[in-house]
Amino acid sequence: MKKKLIKIILALILFAFSMVIKFENVWINNILFVISYIIVGFEIIIKALRNIFRGKVFDENFLMTIATIGAFGIGEFPEAVAVMLFYQIGELFQDYAIDKSRKSISDLMDIKPDYANIEKNGNIQKVSPDSVKIGDTIIVKPGERVPLDGVVIEGTSNLDTKALTGESLPRNVKKDDEILSGSINLNSILKIKVTKEYNESTVSRILDLVENASSKKSKSENFITKFAHYYTPIVVFIALILAVIPPIIIKETTFSQWIYRALSFLVVSCPCALVISIPLSFFGGIGGASKIGILIKGSNYIEQLAKTEIIVFDKTGTLTEGVFDVQKIEAIGINKEELLKIIAYAENYSNHPISQSVKRAYNKKIDEKQIKKYEELAGRGIIATIGEHEVVVGNEELMKERKIKFEKTNLIGTILYVAIENKYVGYILISDKTKSDAQDTIKKLKKNNIKQIVMLTGDKKNVGESVAKELGLDKVYTELLPDGKVAKVESLLKEKSQEGKLAFVGDGINDAPVLAISDIGIAMGGLGADSAIEAADIVLMTDEPSKIVNAIDLSKKTMRIVKQNIVFAISIKIIILILSALGLSTMWWAVFADVGVSILAIINALRVLNVKQAR
Ligand code: ADP
Ligand code: MG
Repeated sequence: MKKKLIKIILALILFAFSMVIKFENVWINNILFVISYIIVGFEIIIKALRNIFRGKVFDENFLMTIATIGAFGIGEFPEAVAVMLFYQIGELFQDYAIDKSRKSISDLMDIKPDYANIEKNGNIQKVSPDSVKIGDTIIVKPGERVPLDGVVIEGTSNLDTKALTGESLPRNVKKDDEILSGSINLNSILKIKVTKEYNESTVSRILDLVENASSKKSKSENFITKFAHYYTPIVVFIALILAVIPPIIIKETTFSQWIYRALSFLVVSCPCALVISIPLSFFGGIGGASKIGILIKGSNYIEQLAKTEIIVFDKTGTLTEGVFDVQKIEAIGINKEELLKIIAYAENYSNHPISQSVKRAYNKKIDEKQIKKYEELAGRGIIATIGEHEVVVGNEELMKERKIKFEKTNLIGTILYVAIENKYVGYILISDKTKSDAQDTIKKLKKNNIKQIVMLTGDKKNVGESVAKELGLDKVYTELLPDGKVAKVESLLKEKSQEGKLAFVGDGINDAPVLAISDIGIAMGGLGADSAIEAADIVLMTDEPSKIVNAIDLSKKTMRIVKQNIVFAISIKIIILILSALGLSTMWWAVFADVGVSILAIINALRVLNVKQAR
C-alpha cells in the first residue's frame, strides 16, 4: 500500500506541475504527462496484457488501457493521465477498506499461539504447539495465550476470552475446568493437561473457518461475475460503433470527436464500484460478526440469514444450559450412592451434557478398568458393562425397547431409568435451566418477523412442553430420536415460502445431521461438539442464543448496503454512459463519476463493520 501511495504522490506532482506550468514547447508538458502516466499506469497495462494471454480479455484493466492509450492517440494527454491516476486513487481507497475489514478478522488471526511451554520430567521447554501430544502437560504463565485445548490440573486463574467470544468479562477457571486455546491467561500460572492436538484445537479450527469464509460466494457476488462477463464485451462493442458509425453517417463531425466520446464511454463503463464494493460488504459483514463472537463460514450464509423465516432450536445445550442438577434419586434394592455410581460409570465416555452433569454430581474418581463395554444409543441412553454386570441407563423408550419392567414417574424433569442385568433398580431425576437470554431472544426474533419458532427435543413431552411454554415458542416436538429430528426438519422445510430459509440451531449432540440438512446450520461453539462445528454454517462462540438476533440484524444490514450499492452504482453508470455517448460529458466527468461512485460505495460498505452487541 505504501508503494502505491508513493507512486501516486509522485505522479500527482508531475501531473500538477505539467498542468500549471505551460512550457513554450508543448512536448515538454506532454513528456511530463507520459512519465506520470507510466508511473501509475504501467502496472495496469501489464495486468491487462497478462489477462489477455490468460483468455480474460474484457476486464477493467483492459478498459482502462484502451481508453487511456486512445486518449493519447487523440492528443488528450492530461485526460489519459487523470484516468489512470484517479483509478489508482480509487484502488488505494479500496485497499484501505479491505485492510480495515480484514483487521477485525486478523484480530482473530492474532489468536494464533507461537509456542507452548511443555513440562517434561520437571523441566520446562518451549516447543511449537503442533508438536504437543494429547496427555502432555503444558504450563501457561500469566499474559500468555493458551496454545492448545485442555483441562486444568493445577492452579486457578482468570482467562480473557475476548478474541474467541467477543465477551469482555474474564472467565474464571479452576482445577478440572476445560479450557479453550486462544484465550489469554490473566493472573496466575496454570498447569494444563492437553486434550486435543493443535490441529483439532479451537484456535486452529477457528482459523481454518475464517480463512475459508470468503471462498463461499453469495448469489450477489456471482451476479457481479456474470454481469461483468456480458457487460464488458457489450460496452466495448458499443464504443466501437460509437467511434466509427456516427462520423460516417453525420457529415459535420470528425472522427476524433467521436473517438473521444467512445473513449470516455469506455472509461465510465468500468464497473469498478460494483466489483469492489459488493464483496467488500460481505467481507465486512463476516468481519463485523467475528468481532462479537459469531463465525460465519461464507457470504452466502449472510444472504440466506437475511431471509430466515423459520428457526428451529434444539433444546438441551441450546435453549437450556445443558447443566443438569440431580433433583431426586429413587433407588430400589440398592442404596442411592450405589445407584449414582453405576450411572456415573455408565456415562463415563459420553459427551452428552447429561453425562457431564451426572459425573459432576458423583464427584469421585472413576476406575475406567471397570468399564468393560460401552454403547451409546443416541437420544435414548447407554448400555454398558460395568464390572460383571450389564447396565442400562436411559429414558422410557430405552426401557420399553429392552422389555424392562419399570415404574414410570411423571415428575417434571429428565429421568434416567436404570436397570442392572435387565432388572429395574430405580431412577434419578435431573433438571436443567433455560439459558438466561433465551426468553428475550425468542421475543426479539418474533419482532424481527420470524414466522415460526420451533423446538425439537429428544426429551420427554412434559419437559419439552414446559420449556416451550416458558419461552413462548410457537411449536414443540418432543421424544424425537436423531432421525425423527431430521424428518421434522424436512417437513418444516416444506412449510416455508420459496425464497424463505430455515435455520437450525443446535449444540451438535445428537443433531449434526439436522445441522447439515437445514438451509443454515447454526452451532454452539463453546459447548458444541466438533462434528457440529464442522457441519454448521455459522458458529456462535459464546453459546448464547441471543447472538442469533445479532447475526440476523447484521445480515439484513449487509444486504441493505449491498442493494443500495448495486442500485446506486448502476444508475449513475447508466446516466453518465448516456451522457458521454451523446457527447454531453467530458472524460473528466467520466473519471470523477467512476472514482466517486467507487469511493462512496466503499464507504457505504464499511458501515457493516460497525456492529453493536444487542444486550
Ligand atoms: P435434546 O434433543 O433435548 O438435545 P437428546 O436428543 O440429546 O436431547 O436426548 C434425548 C433424551 O435421550 C434425553 O432427554 C435422555 O432421556 C436420553 N439420553 C440421551 N443421551 C443420554 C445419555 N448419555 N444418558 C442418558 N440418557 C440419555
Ligand atoms: Mg441436544
